[in-house]
Amino acid sequence: MAKISINLATGSLQKEEIIVGIDLGTTNSLVAFINPEKNPQVINDAGKGILVPSVVYFNQQSDAIVGNEAKEFLTTDPANTIFSVKRLLGRSYKDVAEHKEIFSYKIIDDDTDSLVKIQAGNRFYTPIELSAEILKELKARAEHALKTPVNRAVITVPAYFNDSQRQATRDAGKLAGLDVMRIVNEPTAASLAYGIGLDPTQQKTIAVYDLGGGTFDVSILQIQNGIFEVLATNGNTYLGGDDFDRAILNYWIEKNSLSFTMVAEDNILMQTLRLKAESAKKALSTQNLFNEQVGEIWCTIDKQTFEQLISEKVQETITACKNALVDAGLTVKDIDEVILVGGSTRTPFVKQAVENFFGKMPQDNINPDEVVALGAAIQADVLAGNRSDILLLDVTPLSLGIETMGGLMDVIIARNSKVPTKAGRQYTTSLDGQINMKISVYQGERDLVKENRKLAEFDLKGIPAMPAGLPKVDINFLLNADGILTVQAIELRSGVKQEIEITPSYGLSDDTVEKMLIDSITHAKSDVEQRMLIEARSEGEQLLYTAERFIEKHAEHLTEVEISETKVHIEGLKTALAAQEKDTILKKADDLNEFTRPFAERVMDAAISTAMKGKKID
Ligand code: ADP
Ligand code: MG
Repeated sequence: MAKISINLATGSLQKEEIIVGIDLGTTNSLVAFINPEKNPQVINDAGKGILVPSVVYFNQQSDAIVGNEAKEFLTTDPANTIFSVKRLLGRSYKDVAEHKEIFSYKIIDDDTDSLVKIQAGNRFYTPIELSAEILKELKARAEHALKTPVNRAVITVPAYFNDSQRQATRDAGKLAGLDVMRIVNEPTAASLAYGIGLDPTQQKTIAVYDLGGGTFDVSILQIQNGIFEVLATNGNTYLGGDDFDRAILNYWIEKNSLSFTMVAEDNILMQTLRLKAESAKKALSTQNLFNEQVGEIWCTIDKQTFEQLISEKVQETITACKNALVDAGLTVKDIDEVILVGGSTRTPFVKQAVENFFGKMPQDNINPDEVVALGAAIQADVLAGNRSDILLLDVTPLSLGIETMGGLMDVIIARNSKVPTKAGRQYTTSLDGQINMKISVYQGERDLVKENRKLAEFDLKGIPAMPAGLPKVDINFLLNADGILTVQAIELRSGVKQEIEITPSYGLSDDTVEKMLIDSITHAKSDVEQRMLIEARSEGEQLLYTAERFIEKHAEHLTEVEISETKVHIEGLKTALAAQEKDTILKKADDLNEFTRPFAERVMDAAISTAMKGKKID
């Protein structure tokens, strides 16, 4: 039964529960919804503002304070004021160790391979718990502003987030009491906010340039039939508006003939100047000069000087755009639209650089720090079934498969498949009486699993002992809309079953996905050769196994000559296998097959025929 209620805030009948869209940012977070006029709208809770700084402060009672209030403690109690927690989500200490100096709070490093923890006061928190605090604040604000319970949300993540980071985001939502309907890529959300992708007949290639507080990324998306495919992403997770603030701060220190170390030692002065630098930067987005004073210190800067100071950093982002295009196999001419995302794209110099590079005016009518949340709200509306005309799908960036004989990657879900998706394949055993089957799941484009990334491994145990080739093992991959994979293995004759959900202990580094793709192209030729050799070998070895077993088992049905001639062919195949000669192996295997076929057919039972046809895992 549909629930109908009256929304006191909007004064209208509310048939469905509202699903909100959340941009959980590194620097700022916010929440948006679809208003009764059917337009996406950011939530501004009674004068508290739209952006919630992604900062969590723990006071002495270990109560969490989130947002602007928490931000104030960055100066007075930095050890207990957690910012940029998004950088730590789904990551191990090893992933973040290189940049640990940017964090003023304690990150626990006793186990470098497992997910990080953060210490505040005498308690330890996971990044999931901390992100949940931010989400709880957003949920509360939405509920207060909309005067209705909010239990369901769509949350955005950067396109380069891996499974582990996506899963962590989803878990944070759950912990905050939100049913996370979908994890959506930020560039996908931004394009939706501009209405791109809403028309299923439209095909477009777009670039989304996102310069936030501490991170930069550019994504090249292809949109077709309501499917958003990420062709390439590039960027720098340690480049953003904070660098611009720092550049201004350093400029003032120099102009006032101060010593940097002296200022740095005075935490309060340092933070005051840093905040002043940020206001200067923002002011210079609309005026030519900023001129204020902090005590005796002159905080003056003009637009031109500011642009010189940041020019190198901005150039770096343009280089990343170039690289992304190269990776996508495109040129600027192929880009139909450029979208600006992130507060730092309000700096006119940044906008100009992007325009110059792409040779067209970027889209910036929608506030760049709101556009992602607005798009998330649209996605939420689609999921709520309010826009049944459109179907929004994401695609998986890397292929998923399992290891088969000889260390080969057997792809079950191919790269760029639409998600959610389900695919499966049937396997069998390679040894008589085999009762366990090891299932190793990999992600990547290379033909050999050792070149790909291992996601998980498990044993399907308790297969009843049967001749090789007889068990029928169905392996099913279920990839949900967030890119989280469930693998299920079931032996059909006995019903023995095993299932795992894959949440890797820590994820791919930001560039790894790209590198894996590039590697697969670079090595394509040698991979194919290797794969063909391995396949020939597996086939040859399997044939040897069955042929030897065959003459042993069925000796009484065979003539002396048949047996001795078969043995000659077997020896021939063995020699070819030892020499690792693909063509000879195939030839000898063929010979053996041809020779034994007439009498094999006489006696071959169903079991062996399955063995010779089926694929083997181990
Ligand atoms: P994130 O996605 O990393 O959470 P945002 O998109 O909210 O971050 O961007 C935050 C950054 O945008 C900060 O560095 C902030 O100083 C900068 N910013 C906000 N407004 C302006 C402005 N008017 N001019 C220049 N930079 C701005
Ligand atoms: Mg952002």
